Amino acid sequence: MKFVIVMLDGLRPDQLDDAVTPNLAELSKIGLRLDRHTSSFPSETRVSSAALATGGHSSAHGIIGNRFWANGRSIDGSSLSALLTLGSERGGVLTATTIGEVLAAHGRAMLTIGSQSQGSFGLSSWGSWQAGAPAFWVHDPSNFSNNAAVRRIASCFPVLPADERPARATIERVVDLFFSFLTKAALPEVSLLWLSEPDITYHMFGLQHPTAREVLHEVDRQFGRIFAWWSEKGEREGVQLIAASDHGHAIIGEKVSVLNHLQRSGFKVGYELTPDVDAAISAQRVVNIWVRDREGHLLTEMYHSLSEQPWFGVAFSRKAADGSPLVANTLPLSAVMAEHQRSADLSFVLADCSAANRNAPPGAVYYDGAYPIGVGMHGGLSAHELSSLCILAGNGFKTGVAAVPTSIVDLVPTILSSLRLPLPSTVQGRIIHEALQDREDGGQYDVEDASVSIASSAGRATVFRERYGQRLYLRGAAVTRLAEPKNDRPDANPTQLNT
Ligand SMILES: [Zn+2]
Repeated sequence: MKFVIVMLDGLRPDQLDDAVTPNLAELSKIGLRLDRHTSSFPSETRVSSAALATGGHSSAHGIIGNRFWANGRSIDGSSLSALLTLGSERGGVLTATTIGEVLAAHGRAMLTIGSQSQGSFGLSSWGSWQAGAPAFWVHDPSNFSNNAAVRRIASCFPVLPADERPARATIERVVDLFFSFLTKAALPEVSLLWLSEPDITYHMFGLQHPTAREVLHEVDRQFGRIFAWWSEKGEREGVQLIAASDHGHAIIGEKVSVLNHLQRSGFKVGYELTPDVDAAISAQRVVNIWVRDREGHLLTEMYHSLSEQPWFGVAFSRKAADGSPLVANTLPLSAVMAEHQRSADLSFVLADCSAANRNAPPGAVYYDGAYPIGVGMHGGLSAHELSSLCILAGNGFKTGVAAVPTSIVDLVPTILSSLRLPLPSTVQGRIIHEALQDREDGGQYDVEDASVSIASSAGRATVFRERYGQRLYLRGAAVTRLAEPKNDRPDANPTQLNT
C-alpha cells in the first residue's frame, strides 16, 4: 500500500462545487469525505505543517505559531535557518517524531514536493530530507536534498518567477515534478505534495472574488492531473490518494493594532524583546505576549487592559507552578493542546466581529496585520478557520461520508498503521478506524460535548470542543459580553505580514 497526499493550502471544504472544482467533487463521490475534519490550533500553515508531519498538536511538536519567541529570540517559521537555530538539523526543532523519521528508520522513503514557504516545507518533510529522501522545494529544488533523482530532474526545469501571486505556474510545477519523478524512479510508500494555493489568492482577494474562483479552478485542474494518473494506474497499484487542506479561512472584517493599544495604554511593548521594552508580542489572528521574566503583575495588568476591548476573544495562558493558568480568568493553553515550553505567557484569539457588532457579516473576524479588510485570513479558532478538507480514496478506505470528528493530526497514525509501522509515542491523533476498509470496529464511540468556558466580570469565553475516541477536537470559540465593551478602536498599523 502506498499513499499520495495532496495538500491544498487553505482550501475550505465548503468551497468545493461541481463547476469550480469538478475533480475534487468527483473524488469526494468515489472516495470517503471526512465531513468534520479540522485543523490544529493555531490554524496557521507552519503549525499545520508540523501537525501533519508529527500527528501531534503544538503541545507535542513545539511550533506554537508561524512566528514565536524561543531561546531569547524571535523565530520566523517561514525561514528554515531561523527554525534551525532551535536545534540541529536532526533534533531540537520539532519536539515530536515525524512520519519522515519513522519511514527513514524503517528503510522506507518519502517523496515531498511543495511550493509553500521554505520553513513550512522543511517542517512538513522533517526527517525525510535529512535522510536523503527526494525533497523538491519548487523555489529552489537543490535546497533540501542531495538526492540523485532530485538533482537530475530539477535541472530540466526553468527557474520559477519569484514570489508569484497568484501562484499558478508555481503549483503547476509541483505536479510537473511529481510526474517527472515517476519517469525516473519508483513511487515511495508516502508522497506529500503541497500546493500553496488557494491560500495565497484567498489572502489577496477573499474567497468569492472571480480571481479566487479562477485560481481554485486551476488548483482543481492541477489536482485533476494527479487524479487522472491515479484513476488510470495508481489505484490499481494500491495507491491511496488523499486530498486535504491544512486549515480554512475567515474574512477580515475589522483591523486592529494590539501593539498600538498596549503602547497607548502605557505599556512598553514591541515586536522584539529589546532592552527598552517589557514584553514582546506577535500578532495576526492570534496574539501572543511574552513578558520579560514572566512578570505576573504586568501580565495581569495587560490582560485587564486588553480584555475590555471589543476585539478581545478567548484568552489562554501558560501553566503557573501550581498548575493553574498564569493569568486569572484565562483558560489553560492545554485546553487547545497548545501548552509547550515555547508557549507565550498570554495568548488570545481576536474575536469574531459579531461579538461586538450584531450587523457584522457572518464569518467576519478582527485581525492585526498587513492584509486589508475583506480578504481571507486564518490562524484563529473560528469554525471557518478550523474547517479543513479531507477526502480519502483507494482500496484501503471505505467510501461515502464519515461524519465523525477527525483532525489533521489523525492522518499520521492512520497512514502509519496502514503501513504496519509503529506510531511514535508523541502522536496525539488517532487511527481513523471509521475510514479503513479492513476495520469493522469503526464508529463505536459517542461524540461528547467537551466545551470549556471561563467567566469573568466582562463576560464569558468558550472554546467549543468535542471528545471522540479519547481525543479532543476543536469546533470554534465565542465570547459573550455582559456589558457593552469600550469601542476604543486602535489605529490599524500594518507592519507585519506573516501567514
Ligand atoms: Zn496554510
